[in-house]
Amino acid sequence: MGGTSKDRMKLAAELVSRGGTMLADPCPQDGGIQVRYRGRIYCVLHDDLSLISRATPVTYDTVVVLMRDVLVARLNETTAALAVEKDMDRQERLVSLAAKYLEVLQKLPK
Ligand SMILES: [Zn+2]
Repeated sequence: MGGTSKDRMKLAAELVSRGGTMLADPCPQDGGIQVRYRGRIYCVLHDDLSLISRATPVTYDTVVVLMRDVLVARLNETTAALAVEKDMDRQERLVSLAAKYLEVLQKLPK
């Protein structure tokens, strides 16, 4: 924690410039501005954004790691949706989507 609110806004803007998204909804705890960054939501007021921005410079490696996380999460969602889908056409779409996720996952460097 620490830093003025101006510093925090600067850090929030920095996260956004690194691919984060400023959320429309304020933090439910303290009404702070929230930023989604690398799949997690951070509050400008109660999370220490300076640690995040220092710890995660954007490099090819961090993007690959993020990409893998996102693809695995999506693949998991698609599989879960497929498990309960009764409609054949939608099953087909889900299967081809899952196949694409797998294909990209396999292409990612280890
Ligand atoms: Zn908060």
